Amino acid sequence: MRGVRAVTVNPRVANSLSLIEDQPEPAPEEGAILVEALAVGICGTDHEIIAGEYGEAPPGADRLVIGHESLGRVLEDPSGTLQPGDLVAGIVRHPDPVPCPNCAVGEWDMCRNGQYTEHGIKALPGFARDRWRIEPQFAVGLDPALARVGVLLEPTSVVAKAWDHIERIGHRAEWEPQTVLVTGAGPIGLLAALLATQRGLAVHVLDRATSGPKPELVAALGATYHTVAVNDLPFEPDVVVECTGAPTVVIDVMCKAAPTGIVCLAGVSSGGRSIDFDAGALNRALVLENNVVFGSVNANRRHWTMAEQALARADQSWLESLLTRRVPVERYDEAYTAGPGDIKVVLEFAS
Ligand SMILES: [Zn+2]
Repeated sequence: MRGVRAVTVNPRVANSLSLIEDQPEPAPEEGAILVEALAVGICGTDHEIIAGEYGEAPPGADRLVIGHESLGRVLEDPSGTLQPGDLVAGIVRHPDPVPCPNCAVGEWDMCRNGQYTEHGIKALPGFARDRWRIEPQFAVGLDPALARVGVLLEPTSVVAKAWDHIERIGHRAEWEPQTVLVTGAGPIGLLAALLATQRGLAVHVLDRATSGPKPELVAALGATYHTVAVNDLPFEPDVVVECTGAPTVVIDVMCKAAPTGIVCLAGVSSGGRSIDFDAGALNRALVLENNVVFGSVNANRRHWTMAEQALARADQSWLESLLTRRVPVERYDEAYTAGPGDIKVVLEFAS
């Protein structure tokens, strides 16, 4: 068996990304299940960590192994939860040690005190290494048919939570949604649109891109692709999943939602940019139409299970077309350099 290679950064130091060879085997304290890495997905959070804006090494370490979107194969599981050869992904967030009322019941996605830890992001080693370990309660088994696309489980868990909360909010009263607007056709937006089509809704996706793979990927879902401004859309959506974080889009979708509409904010703004808008008019629109605007981040174990089921039900070739570049770990620097036409870039580990 080859030595462990790991993609690491020196957190809070810009451009410190490096592949370190001959790392020690993952320590038994990291979890009972030993996993051979197959793939790691790359997202905006990784780029922020590499830019030195974010990230925290485990206690006592000066480097952080990155990678939080995982797919691997079980090598050994003495707990018997999974079998050798099973596909597995690791849940990213672990509950805070206090724990807060939410973490105490497994709702670490709703942590109240911010003391949670996250693999590859905050104080726990990530999955971008040849072998990693995980405790059974944070290991999610996948359908064997998902070997090519299971690395999408983490971003899908995020949209599964968003939809779970949209539905819980919707059922505060009689609720028969028809139309959904997803703003932003990146991986999160496209997966949010997929879960909307699985719910039988009329799905509209809005993005700035007029070329590249996005229009076709949306059409292949049976959804409608728009590049106009939100205000020029010819309908009022019952549900909005906002995935851009762009301030004007965020404000516009809040105003555009239909009466009793639900707006889920899933995109993160960078902040520091002011826009001029009529807060009183927005308040009036929200109150008089019983609208709801809420934020959603991360996912708990229930959402990971929902995400696994959603991926297993989806068209596998459509899922595969979201993975626009697969880069072997030896060429990690290419994988972490954004390219034109990228939807989801995946770092592959040789098996
Ligand atoms: Zn907590």
